[in-house]
Amino acid sequence: MFRKVIRVNQSLRPILRNMSKEGVSSSVFDTPPSDTIFAKMIRGEIKVDPVYQDDHVIVLKDINPQAPTHLLLLPKKAQIGLLRNASESDAETLGRLLTVAGNLAKEHNLEEGYRLVINQGTKSQQSVNYLHVHLLSGRQFSWPPG
Ligand code: AMP
Repeated sequence: MFRKVIRVNQSLRPILRNMSKEGVSSSVFDTPPSDTIFAKMIRGEIKVDPVYQDDHVIVLKDINPQAPTHLLLLPKKAQIGLLRNASESDAETLGRLLTVAGNLAKEHNLEEGYRLVINQGTKSQQSVNYLHVHLLSGRQFSWPPG
């Protein structure tokens, strides 16, 4: 009896690792941050209508709002998906995300209550591998979050 030996090309290994009985399962994290829709928007390859932008941050309306106000704050310079991949040089941009969030809350009179959310990883349901802060407001939120 012959035993058939199949040599798997190195480049196919990550794909085969993601194979399930149903077929190939792709992950949000297969797309590098620089190839995400948000990076393309920042580079101007996809047209956007920003609510606000400066040298560090661009703010967009979420396409699928989960509250009457649902904005996305994206860092322009820090092309990172997960915070664990941020470096010291990203610190200023990351800090500016929060200061811009505070300014937007003031400008939009959201002081009664708003929530900032940063989803990180599959269990948090992160769906775009480009760091972003959700700013949600205009309804009652519950705690603990779902
Ligand atoms: P997350 O699930 O935390 O990664 O958040 C990604 C968010 O991006 C979701 O709330 C989506 O609704 C939103 N989103 C995806 N595509 C677009 C788009 N083209 N314009 C605006 N928001 C988007």
